[in-house]
Amino acid sequence: MTDYKFNTNCIQAGYKAESGQPQVLPIVQNTTYRYYNAEDVAKLFDLESADFMYTRLGSPTVNALEAKMAALEGGTAAIAASAGQAANLITMLNICEAGDHIIACANIYGGTHNLFGVTMKKMGIETTFIDQDITKDEIVALAKENTKALFGESLGNPALTVLDIEKFSAAAKEIGVPLVVDNTLASPYLCQPLKYGADIVTHSTTKWADGHATSVGGMVVEGGSFDWNKYADKFPGMVEPDESYHGIKYYEKFGKQAFCLKLRAQMLRDLGCTMSPMNAFLTFQGLDTLHLRMERHSENAMALAEFLQKHSKVDWVKYPGLPGDDDYERAQKYLPKGASGVLSFGVKGGKAAGEEFLKNLKLASIVVHVGDIRTSVLHPASTTHRQLSEEDQLAGGIKPELIRVSVGCEDIEDILSDFDQALNQVK
Ligand code: PLP
Repeated sequence: MTDYKFNTNCIQAGYKAESGQPQVLPIVQNTTYRYYNAEDVAKLFDLESADFMYTRLGSPTVNALEAKMAALEGGTAAIAASAGQAANLITMLNICEAGDHIIACANIYGGTHNLFGVTMKKMGIETTFIDQDITKDEIVALAKENTKALFGESLGNPALTVLDIEKFSAAAKEIGVPLVVDNTLASPYLCQPLKYGADIVTHSTTKWADGHATSVGGMVVEGGSFDWNKYADKFPGMVEPDESYHGIKYYEKFGKQAFCLKLRAQMLRDLGCTMSPMNAFLTFQGLDTLHLRMERHSENAMALAEFLQKHSKVDWVKYPGLPGDDDYERAQKYLPKGASGVLSFGVKGGKAAGEEFLKNLKLASIVVHVGDIRTSVLHPASTTHRQLSEEDQLAGGIKPELIRVSVGCEDIEDILSDFDQALNQVK
C-alpha cells in the first residue's frame, strides 16, 4: 500500500476489501473478541499475536485508521487516541517519567501548553518553553541530563509559525533525544515531518484529518528512526524488560515499531484513552478526501489573506503563504503544496473592533475549532488561550486583537463577500 503516491494512499491505504467483503471500511462496534482456547488468549497477553482481544487495546476499524495515518505520514506504525490531547500526553508519558524534562516551543496550541506546563508538571515532568527561532546551539545549551524530548508544531496553532524541523532535528540528535512534531495544522498532505528528521509525529485528528467536525481523536505516528539502544540509559522503558509484560524488551522485540507497541501495551492499557470505532470510521472517511480538501483550503486561505491584506479596515494579516510573511521562506520549504487553511488577522481598532467584526459575520461560524470544511472564526485570547497569562499569550504569538480563521471549502467569492460586509460595518 505505501508504495502508492500520497493521493492514492488517502483513498486506498488502511483497508482493502477481500472478495465479497464490504467495499467501505466496516465499523466493528464491539468491545471484545471470542476465542476457543486459553492458549490463544495467552498469546495476546504475551504480545505474541496481533489479533484483537479487547477494544481498549485495539480494534479492526481503529487499526485501519492507524494504518492509513502511518502510510500518509511515511511512518512505521501509528496508535490512535481518544483526542489530540491524549496523543501528546501518551507520547510524553511513553518517553518520560517523574523527574524528567522536555523542551517545547512556546508558540504551541494553548491546550498542549497547559498540558505540559501545568498538568505534566504536577506529575513531576518539567517543560522549558522556548522561542522557536533560537539557534540550534541555544536549544542544545538548554538541555539537561534529564531532558528526554524536544517538541514543536510544524505549523503553530494559532501563531501560524513554521517550525524549522531540520534545525530541531539536528538539536535533538546532538542532545540524544527524539524530536516530536505535532503536525495537526499542516496535515500530512502539506508536510511530512518524518522526512525532515522528526522521530515521532502527533495529530489532533479532530481537525483536518476528520475535516467535517464530527469526531474528536488523536494519533501518534512512529518514524522508526530513533535508536533507543544508543541512549539506553535515558530510555530504560524502551530497552529494559517490562515486568508488566513478562519481561518483554520493546526495542529488541519490535524494533522500528517499538514505540507504538509500548504505547498500546502500556498507555492504552493503563490510561484507556482509546479512539472509538465510530470515530475511527468517520476519521477514515475524512482522510479519503484529505488531498482534495487541503488543496482547496490552502487556495481559499491564500485568496482571503491577499484580500484582507488590501482591506482598509484590516491592521495586519498573518499567513505563512504570503510573500513577505516572517515564515514565508520556511513555508516554501516545509509546506510546498500550500500553507494550510488557517490564517489570522487584526481588525483596526483592536480587540473591541475584532469582536464587532465577529458579530457581523453571516456565512462564517464562530466555533472553537479549525479544520472544518465550513469557514470558522475564533478570538483565541478570550477563548482557547484564556487560561494563559497575557505574557504567555504574547510569547505564543497571540495578540489581544488576533482573529483566527479556518478557511473552508465554500466558493471563495462567498467567503470574501462575507468578510467584506462584516468588516465594512465595523465603526
Ligand atoms: N494539537 C494541536 C495543534 C491542536 O490544534 C489541538 C486542538 O486544537 C490539539 C493538539 C488537541 O487536540 P484535541 O482537541 O483533539 O484534543
